[in-house]
Amino acid sequence: MTQKDLLAVAEEFGSPVYVYDAEKIISQYKRLTSAFKVNELRIHYAVKALSNISILKLMNSLGCGLDTVSVQEVRLGLEAGVDPSKIIYTPNGVSLEEIEEVAKLGAQINIDNLSILEQFGSRHPETPVCIRINPHVMAGGNSKISVGHIDSKFGISIHQMPHLLRIVENTGMHINGIHMHTGSDILDIGVFLHASEILFEAAKNFKELEFLDFGSGFKVPYREGDIETDIEDLGAQLTKKFDKFCKEYGRELALTFEPGKYLVSEAGKFLAKVNVIKQTTSTVFAGIDTGFNHLIRPMFYGSHHDIKNISNPSAKARFYSVVGYICETDTFASNRRISEIREGDILSFSNAGAYCFSMASNFNSRYRPAEVLWYKGKAHLIRERESFEDLTRHQVVMDFKSTEKDLVIKE
Ligand SMILES: *Cc1c(COP(=O)(O)O)cnc(C)c1O
Repeated sequence: MTQKDLLAVAEEFGSPVYVYDAEKIISQYKRLTSAFKVNELRIHYAVKALSNISILKLMNSLGCGLDTVSVQEVRLGLEAGVDPSKIIYTPNGVSLEEIEEVAKLGAQINIDNLSILEQFGSRHPETPVCIRINPHVMAGGNSKISVGHIDSKFGISIHQMPHLLRIVENTGMHINGIHMHTGSDILDIGVFLHASEILFEAAKNFKELEFLDFGSGFKVPYREGDIETDIEDLGAQLTKKFDKFCKEYGRELALTFEPGKYLVSEAGKFLAKVNVIKQTTSTVFAGIDTGFNHLIRPMFYGSHHDIKNISNPSAKARFYSVVGYICETDTFASNRRISEIREGDILSFSNAGAYCFSMASNFNSRYRPAEVLWYKGKAHLIRERESFEDLTRHQVVMDFKSTEKDLVIKE
């Protein structure tokens, strides 16, 4: 997708709009699958990153399974035609009822606490389940997205293995997989490999395993020159360790990953129009036709998104604070060097594929944006911009009448 292509998309579908490059998703998938030369590799795309059904269908056609965290995501996957056997369900803190509902739909259940494990195992000993282990290894620097540390709410502590084994034995349940997800932004392959050793140790306690799931957290570049997870190096080193483990275990297992960000982050661009340029005594604000209702990551995680002025790309760069139209402070970028911005220009945000649209809301009663999939030189609308009816559809309206004494409900 060139800047000209993006401008044409903003022209055709209006702004703000999300655009995803299908070819970039496909090349990321291929890069990942080529890095791990094991007997059986299973990639399960983490639906929560970007859950548009057309994206799920694209993943399915590539042979990619899904990783889901809610029954609704499972149902979106089924809607997209994904076979339930290729859907892993890895919830945290959900009810036993929801887990049973997903089990009925045929997805692979992954359980991350002993209480539910015991209840589910007693009621459905015949349904094989995977167990999410917390190896207590901290990967990555962002505490909001790091989930492997000691006081994390995720996973069953590796130190609770004796208790876990007692539950498995007492219920007679079948454990077919062991899982870990150390959180986002793996920079240090060494830390990841260390966690994998802990997972291998844990796996030796179970005789009926079919797969080992190493979760995700692959880092993608956000700025030019950013370090990213060296997938090829990780692939070579983990493959070696995995092969060795399978030999000791006595059987070939499937190696599983659940990337979200890695597959879709860089494929996405978010396009917004500049409504107003406001020069103050301290800075120049570029006010755009969106806010944290459509892209919350900069405010929520402090994430960096590169911003380019695609309407005036070769002009001299100046410093801007790019802000939204929400009636609260919503700063996308402070003091950012961007080629000269004029009112009406279209700005393009990078890394807008993962956790962007899927976190969008209707705050300030704005419509959620349209989504476009760019494939082989053409733009395809995959979600319409919302309309006023979407804001009112589920509201049950009460009406009031004021009388002399009181306010009464109008029937
Ligand atoms: C969110 C999540 C992922 C995906 O993480 P990314 O950082 O987007 O790759 C994978 N597995 C589980 C269990 C998750 O909750």
